Amino acid sequence: MTTHTRPDWDEYFMEIAKVVALRATCDRGRSGCVIVRNKQILVTGYVGSASGLPHCDEIGHQMKTMRHEDGTETQHCVRTAHAEQNAIVQAAKVGTALDGATLYCKMTPCRVCAKIIINAGIKHVVCEKRYHAGEESEEMFRMTGITLSFVDETIEQYANQ
Ligand SMILES: [Zn+2]
Ligand SMILES: [Zn+2]
Repeated sequence: MTTHTRPDWDEYFMEIAKVVALRATCDRGRSGCVIVRNKQILVTGYVGSASGLPHCDEIGHQMKTMRHEDGTETQHCVRTAHAEQNAIVQAAKVGTALDGATLYCKMTPCRVCAKIIINAGIKHVVCEKRYHAGEESEEMFRMTGITLSFVDETIEQYANQ
């Protein structure tokens, strides 16, 4: 007899996404992504600069200020492509269709990633946590019939976005 508890499939792929995230190169959010179909991993991706360009961890962030309609400003690092983007682009590079796939990632995808996920034909998104500004993505997924679930319902906040 053993006391070992097997992870369920969602836990299994989420743990793999966390290991993928260890390769991320921007410390503002080291996240990883795994895209799966029929319990098989198709591709992985992590936050990082485009191949061949320097990383935040080497030369610092590339911060941009975004001004919102209500007058507030938030700061974002734009040096990196997001984990979801890099995973989907990896699929394009090697010629792997993602239609009907399930995507595992750290937080509610941002609005750019959400649009790319929708157009890649991905049908299920599983996040470790809910992103504090993820409502627009949640709405887009609702409108396009993509299921969105959270392993942990606590909300992830960024210091200074
Ligand atoms: Zn950065
Ligand atoms: Zn994103």
